[in-house]
Amino acid sequence: MTGTDSSEILSRGSRNQHRQKILIVDDAEANLMILSNLLAEEGDVISATDGAQAISLANSALPDLILLDVSMPTMDGYEVCRRLKSDIRTRDIPIVFVTGRTDDDDQEKGLSLGAIDYILKPYSPLIVLARIRNHLALQKAHRDLKLANQELTRLATTDFLTGVWNRRRFMELGEAELARVRRSGRNFGVVMMDVDHFKSVNDTYGHDAGDAVLRALADACVDRLRNVDIVGRMGGEEFALILPETDPQGAKLTVERLREYLGQMAIPTDSGTLSVTVSAGVTTVQDPSDTIEAALKRADEALYKAKGSGRNRTVAYEDI
Ligand code: GH3
Ligand code: MG
Ligand code: MG
Repeated sequence: MTGTDSSEILSRGSRNQHRQKILIVDDAEANLMILSNLLAEEGDVISATDGAQAISLANSALPDLILLDVSMPTMDGYEVCRRLKSDIRTRDIPIVFVTGRTDDDDQEKGLSLGAIDYILKPYSPLIVLARIRNHLALQKAHRDLKLANQELTRLATTDFLTGVWNRRRFMELGEAELARVRRSGRNFGVVMMDVDHFKSVNDTYGHDAGDAVLRALADACVDRLRNVDIVGRMGGEEFALILPETDPQGAKLTVERLREYLGQMAIPTDSGTLSVTVSAGVTTVQDPSDTIEAALKRADEALYKAKGSGRNRTVAYEDI
């Protein structure tokens, strides 16, 4: 996270220009025309003439704002609002009712359903425009914040060099896997891998070449393993894996295959094509009272054995 603070991320998010989309829903074409013309400068205007079409467009286009008529045949605006607010995909899209229904009860109902505003007809175009601009500005701030949050989460959970999970997130995912094991009684494999003589790669070819090797190894782990498998970089040239729903033989076989694959890779770097070998230690979590820390320690012990007995091999803790 060095050199990146939240304000920087926020401004990066807002520099990423996004033309806002406004969905206008009204069964009267004339009303659609008036509002579309009024809002043409504010963003991309799309329209629907009935409730079902409105819901389908809201889902596919994910507009930044919806202007919604109340009185429409088949499905009225209140029902459209209710459905959009109960769907996780569309519930955060602000809805503004634009309607000739001016009773307090109607207004109260619309606002209670989650609409952000209720504009009465006949309206002053200038005031409608000003209100819509405010809603769009708020929605933009909301979106920028959401993107910034996503970026912060990414930075906080992934390893900057390789893009695989960082240690912290790896441990969290391991805990989640452990909780699943406690419910289902299924086993999972825990692996520690370390590049052999990596110091000499750096010393001989430079740190950038070393970095390229680490990135290639991480990519290969992700490519070669199943989608459910978890790859983390624990530090330096050390990677850890979690292999869900895998028994001891399966874990050993998987790691051994992966290790062989990594060892025969020809990795392109600016200093030429390099090859490295890795050593691995593997263990299996079977006991509900086990912990991720303890399993990693066992895998590390097995890895130490693999290093001590000549490197470029896999050792299972259970075989020691
Ligand atoms: P062994 O076979 O016993 O594991 O030997 P080794 O040389 O791989 O192990 P050692 O722990 O002595 O050296 C690890 C090296 O990894 C030293 C360090 O400079 C390098 N290293 C750690 N992190 C990075 C990184 O992010 N990028 C690069 N290029 N090198 C790194
Ligand atoms: Mg090493
Ligand atoms: Mg090491």
